Amino acid sequence: MNKEEIEKLSYDFFNKSHSNFVDENEAIVPELSGMRLFDNPLFGFASSKDEEFWNLKNQSVIGEHFMLPEEWLTGAVTVVSFFMPFSEEVIKSNRGNKEVISNQWLHGRIEGQRFVAEFCRYLNSKIIEDGFRSLSPSLDKRFYTTKEDDKGHLFSSNWSERHVAFICGLGTFGLSKGIITEKGMAGRIGSLITDMPLEPTERKYSDIYQYCTMCGACVKRCPAGAISLEKGKIHRICSDFLDYTAEKYKPRYGCGKCQTGVPCERRIPLQRR
Ligand code: SF4
Ligand code: SF4
Repeated sequence: MNKEEIEKLSYDFFNKSHSNFVDENEAIVPELSGMRLFDNPLFGFASSKDEEFWNLKNQSVIGEHFMLPEEWLTGAVTVVSFFMPFSEEVIKSNRGNKEVISNQWLHGRIEGQRFVAEFCRYLNSKIIEDGFRSLSPSLDKRFYTTKEDDKGHLFSSNWSERHVAFICGLGTFGLSKGIITEKGMAGRIGSLITDMPLEPTERKYSDIYQYCTMCGACVKRCPAGAISLEKGKIHRICSDFLDYTAEKYKPRYGCGKCQTGVPCERRIPLQRR
């Protein structure tokens, strides 16, 4: 299997899998039955030996608990990261009133995350069928996220989809701490590690915030006041707001106001620096 075949298989899956469309039995309102959750994904590839993975073990980045590709899969050769942009319907619906999370976005966040896991399982199975080994750390029993570690770091995981996306050439961080890709920031990210050799993607940037113009639009969009130009995003404030949405929109939750109605929503914004 090569990169083009991986992309083609994935596009077919995104277009045909029922899980990428809201089921009529789960739709929050009947009109959302059949709504598409994600557009086709964007792929990035990195060598499992890329020294940037080692940098993630620094305490100032993630920490010693970050597990290298080789630690997840002995003999790892390639890390594959994919950005799954939300569909126009999901994104457009959440551009309005920042105090109200749209039903479409709530579906994207919850049923969408279920689809991310399903897609990971599908792609791993196709690579394994082709005679290689493959796993997604986020689905592995060794994966964990602590809400707060002993150094006070919030949501510290032993695998970070956003940092991995950066290493795989998909894009850079934005002020709101999402990844800005060629298809914007509004979407979800997944990854897998395999011993299948695939050519790494060139990183077209050198700075971790290169694609962010620091325009401050996400600061104004955040209903919780969690983002500022001076401090970036304060995870604790965002997390508390998500807890509030979990009560309000039970059994779903979500926000995404910093990813919608902003210049980096669906593209890399024009650079001002
Ligand atoms: S809205 Fe502006 S400041 Fe915020 S992440 Fe996007 S480009 Fe950066
Ligand atoms: S997800 Fe919502 S609360 Fe969290 S930083 Fe973005 S806009 Fe603010």
